[in-house]
Amino acid sequence: MVRKEDLTNVASDIHPPTASSAGYFDAIVIGAGLGGLLSAAQLLRRGKRVVILERLPHSGGRFTAKNFQGAQVSTGAVHMIPFGSSGVLARMLHLLRVPHHFFDADVFGSFHVNGKQYRSRGLLGVCKFLGPRQFFWFTRLGYLMFLRPLPAHEHQLPFDRWLARHINVKRNPQLVAFFERISRFALSLELSQVSTAEVIRITKYMLRYGAPAIVQGGCAELTRQLELHVREHGGTVHLSSPVLQILAEDGRVSGVRVQNKVSGTESIIHAPLIVSDIGPRATQALLHGHRITQAEVLKPRPTATGNNGAQEATIREAVGLKVHVLSDISLIPHKGIMYCLDTRRIAGIVQPTNSDPNLAPPGKHLLISHQVIQSDNIEEERALALADLRMLFGTAFDTHCRVLTMGTYRGEWPVNRIAQGEDTQPLTALQGLYLVGDAVKPSGYLMVEGVAQSVNHFLDLLDEIEARKGQPNVVPPPPRIRALHWLFSVPPGPAADGKQ
Ligand SMILES: Cc1cc2nc3c(=O)[nH]c(=O)nc-3n(C[C@H](O)[C@H](O)[C@H](O)COP(=O)(O)OP(=O)(O)OC[C@H]3O[C@@H](n4cnc5c(N)ncnc54)[C@H](O)[C@@H]3O)c2cc1C
Repeated sequence: MVRKEDLTNVASDIHPPTASSAGYFDAIVIGAGLGGLLSAAQLLRRGKRVVILERLPHSGGRFTAKNFQGAQVSTGAVHMIPFGSSGVLARMLHLLRVPHHFFDADVFGSFHVNGKQYRSRGLLGVCKFLGPRQFFWFTRLGYLMFLRPLPAHEHQLPFDRWLARHINVKRNPQLVAFFERISRFALSLELSQVSTAEVIRITKYMLRYGAPAIVQGGCAELTRQLELHVREHGGTVHLSSPVLQILAEDGRVSGVRVQNKVSGTESIIHAPLIVSDIGPRATQALLHGHRITQAEVLKPRPTATGNNGAQEATIREAVGLKVHVLSDISLIPHKGIMYCLDTRRIAGIVQPTNSDPNLAPPGKHLLISHQVIQSDNIEEERALALADLRMLFGTAFDTHCRVLTMGTYRGEWPVNRIAQGEDTQPLTALQGLYLVGDAVKPSGYLMVEGVAQSVNHFLDLLDEIEARKGQPNVVPPPPRIRALHWLFSVPPGPAADGKQ
């Protein structure tokens, strides 16, 4: 947990360790997740000498996969790109000329309600399972969300409370479940955990950009192509190379201390620019030469005001449980998401082999379900997932399906490092240190679209700062984007707030 008082002048207790110097670069990227790979590719395009340092023996982070019994079992994402072939990620890949293909969904989705699956080609298709009365309230909510300005006092209202203000939730159970399951599948959040303004912004972007897509070859193929692109454009990628410490002098970054896991040696790499793709908590720890552990992150959190009344900084991530299933028969007849409105846990399921059959062995179908973890009893969460799968597919599940893996995503390997709508900014108080990735998703941008957009924001800031530097005798004014108050900044002292 990051306490405000721990952050006083973070640069002051950082001393470069004695180790051999391993080189000079224009930029160091910490982490070869999607955010790190995209950042490196963009910096290379700007003519910078870039090195990526990744602690694992492979790149891709939570957006890659392993071949397990012939199926592409992903390390995180369900092989799905939220805004499909017209989204932010697609545009960036196109600009970078990274080979890729996205199969856009052919439906808005299907909905499993009262034991039956209803296929909905467009948004209005939900009338099939809502019936006339709930559909009337659905269109009324559409009007309130999109056709009239949202009153200021409703912006930060949790979406479940906003719904309760405008509809009778008891009399509209499927309508409430519709919003709830989409939120659980797409954000890994309950409706009580996301603000009304954020839900509206996300929905507007979903409608603007279009259907989600499955990436050809799955997540692993996309990040493999990106790594290849970085190497072919002169970038250096060191795998099995955890960064142990971020080094700084006089309030600005100077390099990192990195370990070579194969040889066990440590070295220092110098650069005036560091892009961190590992999230604010782990980045913060590296400034103190400390690496955050899963156990530390899973420790119970204090509340926002802390047990002793002192203000605490909390990071709320989104957590989930995912099941990979291999089936002899097709169970979902389209390329989109099947939202499950009548389950106890599973929020939605995709069958990505409908788009790319090569994600499973010949003749087999890969299904991936996702749910929010709702308790600390993980065994119970897993049992509820299996019970839901049996309820959804009946005897076909036991006769034709095999569970490949069941994984929980929380701690330092969550669904989102910071919950949607609470994200931090790319800028830190340490000059030359920037954050990208899924803790920096701009409002309204989901998952990897948010990761790509975080890279766009970082590049905008960098361009702005470098343009100012190019002007002689101009002292750069403070950047327009404020760093999150608790991250890398000095708490305001008596002189700053003038009250003590
Ligand atoms: C269950 C689940 C389902 C999801 N489904 C989808 C989906 O369908 N579609 C979608 O768009 N998104 C989905 N997401 C979210 C998506 O996977 C993430 O938003 C995205 O992959 C995050 O990328 P990143 O680059 O920000 O971080 P990461 O992928 O976590 O990359 C960070 C990298 O940094 C490395 N690292 C950490 N510490 C160090 C260190 N000290 N030194 C060097 N390297 C270090 C890590 O090993 C990792 O490779 C899902 C996530 C989960 C968990």
